Amino acid sequence: MNIILLGPPGAGKGTQAQFLVEERGMVQLSTGDMLRAARTSGTEMGKIVADVMDRGNLVTDEIVIGLIREKLESDKAGGFIFDGFPRTLPQADALGDLLAEMGETLHAVIAMKVDDDAMVARVVNRAAEAKAAGNTPRADDTAEAMQTRLKAYYKDTSTLIGYYHAKGTLSWVDGMGSMDEVKAAIAGVLD
Ligand code: AMP
Repeated sequence: MNIILLGPPGAGKGTQAQFLVEERGMVQLSTGDMLRAARTSGTEMGKIVADVMDRGNLVTDEIVIGLIREKLESDKAGGFIFDGFPRTLPQADALGDLLAEMGETLHAVIAMKVDDDAMVARVVNRAAEAKAAGNTPRADDTAEAMQTRLKAYYKDTSTLIGYYHAKGTLSWVDGMGSMDEVKAAIAGVLD
């Protein structure tokens, strides 16, 4: 089963993906994690994306599609959770093509319904907690970068809701409940 977790920044896509990895043995493919790894590796691509990410803007389709293609080619087992990808229509088309080439399909797109103000508070709090624990918070977990990230979501990513609804794969879950409630709602879609 291959699924997409779709929702604004801070909605809990990564947290829920992690549960699915632990409990169902699925494979999480987070383009955000891949990009963060690329920037710490000191590659040319890492340098190009660092500033874009820190401001909360989207990295080019070419770069993220390239990252996903690489992962799919090296891990052909299926059972993918796409977390933070696709974020634009060209990315969604590219994903459809890549899966078709592998003989795979997309089984569900889970859209997480959340409140924007709560998302800003959540990521600002995530940064404060990281700091308190002695870790460096994500540079884009600030109230300012969150405004840009939310705008990018509404401008480019939210159109995917209509795209997948038209394909019949979209399901909504309430993302404002506790982690366990959201987990149960996702299980309700998948089982
Ligand atoms: P995330 O960890 O999913 O919140 O992603 C962090 C940042 O990485 C985003 O704000 C973008 O700058 C970049 N990014 C992650 N995934 C994508 C994507 N699919 N398309 C474009 N940019 C992305």
